[in-house]
Amino acid sequence: MAASGGYNYRDAATQRSSFKVDRPLSVNSNPKSAVKSKPLLPPRRNSTGSIGAAAAAAAGTASKDNTGVPGRVRVAVRLRPRNSDEMISDADFAEIVELQPELKRLKLRRNNWDLDTYEFDEVLTEFASQKRVYEVVAKPVVESVLEGYNGTVMAYGQTGTGKTYTLGRLGEEDTAARGIMVRAMEDILADVSLESDSLSVSYLQLYMETIHDLLDPANDSISIVEDPKTGDVSLPGASLVEIRDHKSFVELLRLGEAHRFATNTKLNTESSRSHAILMVHVKKSVKGRDSALSSQNVNNSHTVKSLKPPVVRKSKLIVVDLAGSERIDKSGSEGHTLEEAKSINLSLSALGKCINALAENSAHIPVRDSKLTRLLRDSFGGTARTSLVVTIGPSPRHRGETASTIMFGQRAMKVENMLKLKEEFDYKSLSRRLDIQLDKLIAEHERQQKAFEDEIERIAAEAQNQITEVEKNYADALEKERLKYQKDYMESIKKLEEQLVMNQPKHDFEKVTNGPKDDKSNVTSSKEICRLHVEEINDLRKLLQRETSLRKAAEEETSNLKSQLTQWKRSEAAGNSEILKLRKMLEDEAHQKEKLEGEIATLHSQLLQLSFDADETSRQLDRGGLGKVGGLDSLMTQVRHLQLKESGNEDKASIAKIFEQVGLQKILSLLEAEDNDVRIHAVKVVANLAAEEANQEKIVEAGGLTSLLMLLKTSDDETIHRVAAGAIANLAMNETNQELIMSQGGISLLSMTAANGEDPQTLRMVAGAIANLCGNDKLQSKLRAEGGIKALLGMVRCGHPDVLAQVARGIANFAKCESRASTQGTKNGRSLLIEDGALSWIVQNANNEASPIRRHIELALCHLAQHETNAKDMISGGALWELVRISRDCSREDIRTLAYRTLTSSPTFQGELRRLRIDN
Ligand code: ADP
Ligand code: MG
Repeated sequence: MAASGGYNYRDAATQRSSFKVDRPLSVNSNPKSAVKSKPLLPPRRNSTGSIGAAAAAAAGTASKDNTGVPGRVRVAVRLRPRNSDEMISDADFAEIVELQPELKRLKLRRNNWDLDTYEFDEVLTEFASQKRVYEVVAKPVVESVLEGYNGTVMAYGQTGTGKTYTLGRLGEEDTAARGIMVRAMEDILADVSLESDSLSVSYLQLYMETIHDLLDPANDSISIVEDPKTGDVSLPGASLVEIRDHKSFVELLRLGEAHRFATNTKLNTESSRSHAILMVHVKKSVKGRDSALSSQNVNNSHTVKSLKPPVVRKSKLIVVDLAGSERIDKSGSEGHTLEEAKSINLSLSALGKCINALAENSAHIPVRDSKLTRLLRDSFGGTARTSLVVTIGPSPRHRGETASTIMFGQRAMKVENMLKLKEEFDYKSLSRRLDIQLDKLIAEHERQQKAFEDEIERIAAEAQNQITEVEKNYADALEKERLKYQKDYMESIKKLEEQLVMNQPKHDFEKVTNGPKDDKSNVTSSKEICRLHVEEINDLRKLLQRETSLRKAAEEETSNLKSQLTQWKRSEAAGNSEILKLRKMLEDEAHQKEKLEGEIATLHSQLLQLSFDADETSRQLDRGGLGKVGGLDSLMTQVRHLQLKESGNEDKASIAKIFEQVGLQKILSLLEAEDNDVRIHAVKVVANLAAEEANQEKIVEAGGLTSLLMLLKTSDDETIHRVAAGAIANLAMNETNQELIMSQGGISLLSMTAANGEDPQTLRMVAGAIANLCGNDKLQSKLRAEGGIKALLGMVRCGHPDVLAQVARGIANFAKCESRASTQGTKNGRSLLIEDGALSWIVQNANNEASPIRRHIELALCHLAQHETNAKDMISGGALWELVRISRDCSREDIRTLAYRTLTSSPTFQGELRRLRIDN
């Protein structure tokens, strides 16, 4: 409610806006409007001006009349001037209250820099005259009472702030000082006619929930009676003193004041602890025409006129000088027990609670909680007929009490919200109305939708009908057309026949000229001819029809055949390309076969020669040994002859024979012959011998290996290189020989041959030799040091699958040995194959289409992968992918399993696979 000066402007604005609907406090400016729609007496119990009615309204059961009576508790604030004490003691203090009467605002200083701003219906400064206070606070209520409504004027505030001054000053010595009670009575007395009307007063004190009669001190337990029908509150036990004039009233007040003092002395309390209640009962007779009522209410005028006895209007004005609002010290320092303190406060706090409940539009207004609220039940409520003046003092010492008094006043002002909230009821009914409207609209929408769907259905049916009709019309038209053509056709036939008949006489004439014939026979014959023609035509027609149907069938057949043909053509094209492919393959095969046959022929002839020579030699030997003269030449001849020998079965036997007969030494010596041909033949023989495992040892013992190696070095004949390398390769299958080859510099010789060789078969032999050496555990580092791996890799340049297969085999052998060495702990560090750059070729050919190459490489990869030292290089070189592929797709189960095991056992590979989110 409070708005800090400048800071809480919004609150103040909200508050201000809530006042916009307020009627001015001075309802006397147009008092009639306030009651215009209100029913006149007797239904006062329902008036909004009562606590009971307000409660009913708050519970949402208020009659419609209430909405027509705007109003609420009007609240004015009055500031008492500083008294002499305060002049001195508060002189140094800043004012805590600042009034802006023209804005109806009160500012209460919270601290040195903050002010709370409040608005009231009236703000009365310390200079406000008693007259003005009466006029703005009480006069509207008094006027309302004179019109027949109950009214209440109350003063609320801390003790010593001027409640009694405002309400009860008698003003005997200073007329201007007269308070509200006196002035109200003056106005009432001026309005009523003492002949016809009556005016009586009760003066009571309420203390600790007991009502004392201030006009009869002996009467100290007055009960409150509520008429259950009308809701009227009365105090049958209280003295009711008729007032005839102003003077008697003042006397009465004075008497009451005296009794109040006496009573308080008796009760050992101060007047500030009790409530003083003045009740003025007005009974006014309504005298037909001159009645204010009859002139104001047209609807009722005829009723009024028709009434014979005068109508008496009863109302009451209650003026309450409330007990001091300051809290009662519950510590008992004032001599009260806790129970007493509670009881003393009860009525005041009950009033506060009722005001709060009304302000919050609560469903329950706790009217019955105290005597005061019960007493005010029919006289306190939300119309202008209740006025509250809250009195405050200027002293900063009582800031707390002043603030709480102001808040009480503010809450009392909010009782107006009841009316505002009635608007909310309107929203509810509006919402209900809208709900109904919405339901109507929904229903309407549904109806429209149904109508729409029906319409669509109808249109669809109509369209269908139209289609059927059109179809029927069309069929009819067709039929008509057909009939017409048929008719035309018949007609033209008829015409033709007529024409034929017409032509007949001409024909007959011709006949006559050619030879005479009797007329009768002529006519018969012409008829006959005509009939024949018709028959012929009919036949022709039939024929035509048959032909047409036949043609149709033929056409169908043709289209069928055509489609078949296209299909055949298509498959033929596919077949042709297949045939071409096969033919090509066949040609390749044939070519290959031819080549092989040529080779076989050569070999046969060589063998033949050899065996022949061998026989020769044998014969010579039989004849007396190998003479020196016959030496080399004859041996050469023998060798040459040996090679010419035909039968394959006899080869081995012959060679063995030669071996025995000629002697190895001799053959080997031919390897160094001057004649290249001789050397070629010799090396071939040695190679053939070396192919037999049984001979290998002998050949090596006889120095054949050395000679063969020498040939690689000394000869530049490719054939010699090829055959020698082949022989070396055969010899290199043996471990001892491998060491020998190495020790005799075989690797560098083979490397050299590899570097110079062009014939894939030469390279194949060299690669085969090196591949065999690669399989020797002991020779690993030497082989590599002498360039064996490089030589192997160098040979891949030729691209021939046979060569590549040998290279792959060599690499696989090497990798296997390395793997073994690593497992045995004799080798550390990464693979020499990787060091020598073999990995990229390995990876490139890991999926080579030639299975011998692929298998060796797959094995090589598995061997390499078995050692963590290689893992990083393998990952970066792309070998991991190949391994994964092998582990999944390799057709050989053993290799597949090996690859899988290798992959799963390597933490590095596992890590990488996890990183790449690949399941293995
Ligand atoms: P309350 O009834 O609230 O306890 P009172 O009416 O007895 O207070 O006033 C206390 C004192 O202040 C009295 O002496 C009274 O004359 C004086 N007083 C109160 N209001 C005014 C006023 N508006 N102008 C001058 N004096 C006042
Ligand atoms: Mg007082």
